[in-house]
Amino acid sequence: MGRRRQSFDQTLNAIDYRRCKQRVFFLGVRERRLTILSQQHRALHLARALDRTGLLPSGDKAHICVIGAGVGGLTLAAALGTLNRRVTLLERALGPLHLQESNDTRWLHPNVYRWPMENWDQEASDLPFLNWHAGMAGKVARSLVTQWETMRVEDDLASVVTEHYGVSHVNVPKQQ
Ligand SMILES: Cc1cc2nc3c(=O)[nH]c(=O)nc-3n(C[C@H](O)[C@H](O)[C@H](O)COP(=O)(O)OP(=O)(O)OC[C@H]3O[C@@H](n4cnc5c(N)ncnc54)[C@H](O)[C@@H]3O)c2cc1C
Repeated sequence: MGRRRQSFDQTLNAIDYRRCKQRVFFLGVRERRLTILSQQHRALHLARALDRTGLLPSGDKAHICVIGAGVGGLTLAAALGTLNRRVTLLERALGPLHLQESNDTRWLHPNVYRWPMENWDQEASDLPFLNWHAGMAGKVARSLVTQWETMRVEDDLASVVTEHYGVSHVNVPKQQ
């Protein structure tokens, strides 16, 4: 069993998804280490865990709201979209990855925080999608946004994922 699989099973065991009646999930809020890659792993684990435990809503009216188009939200929306779930992505800034996209002074590396563990110097994120290489934050963000836009067209994510930017208020009509 590889490290990634173990890590997924640990995630699955750590959270009793069936007891979460509110169906509201937070990515990494209580975790000790928050990096771009760790948030992407959490997003992929969450989508897979919800799918595997039967907690992902399905059917015509089923809808999932992802709040925040940072790297965690974007990866989660992409994962849910590839599982053919309808997603509404809400972001208060004017575009995705706004914290990184205009920063050309900070160097990001996907694995350096894992030092001295194995493969800490691997410069590629090695994910199923939304991959990135070590580089300046702005360049990483622009590459991720380009991949996201490509997925919207080529993988038809646009038919299931709706994005809203500059969001300040949300009105949820009462169900009849
Ligand atoms: C100074 C600094 C340096 C860092 N350097 C590194 C580094 O070198 N390498 C690394 O891997 N990580 C680094 N990190 C950590 C990395 O930035 C985070 O792990 C990563 O951004 C987390 O992604 P996220 O999507 O979970 O959250 P965020 O990137 O914070 O994204 C959350 C998004 O949600 C939006 N949002 C929040 N609340 C709402 C709301 N109520 N409604 C709508 N939208 C909302 C925000 O506008 C934002 O776009 C650094 C962090 C900081 C602060």
